[in-house]
Amino acid sequence: MFLVIHASVGALVGNAVGSPAAAFSLSFLLHFLLDMIPHGDLVVYEGYKKRRGIRKAIIHTSLDALMVVIMLTIIFSLGHMISAEIAVAAGIVGGLLPDLLVALFELTQPKGTRWSGRQLTKFHDWHMRNHVFLIKKFFRGDVPLKYGYLIQAVVIVVLLKLIL
Ligand SMILES: [Zn+2]
Repeated sequence: MFLVIHASVGALVGNAVGSPAAAFSLSFLLHFLLDMIPHGDLVVYEGYKKRRGIRKAIIHTSLDALMVVIMLTIIFSLGHMISAEIAVAAGIVGGLLPDLLVALFELTQPKGTRWSGRQLTKFHDWHMRNHVFLIKKFFRGDVPLKYGYLIQAVVIVVLLKLIL
């Protein structure tokens, strides 16, 4: 899923479980389950990798990041918070961290034998394999990006109903 979903689910999880450590771990794990749902952004990533869609990827990611800010502003200002904000924040960080690590990999392109670079590369490859796992196993390809946006919009409405 997009960043906005990972961040919002993280906030919800944090609010539900109340403990920062549990919120962080659960949201981190949930990230991978949510990513398995086909959501149309594979074309954006592939365009970025082949360098013909870098502009599109930057616009897509910037809008997604903007949506994160908007959603979190709504959640923190209007949401029905029953837990400490630190648990909610830990959930958000846990939910976003996998994609932040992927971004770190893409921006630094670690090469060589340094331990940190090798682990980051392993994590990136595993994240991408997880991302396409269901798409490759059960679908003939990713859903079109426009459906991806629709899926995110539906999930956002559901999440807002849960927390407001
Ligand atoms: Zn991800």
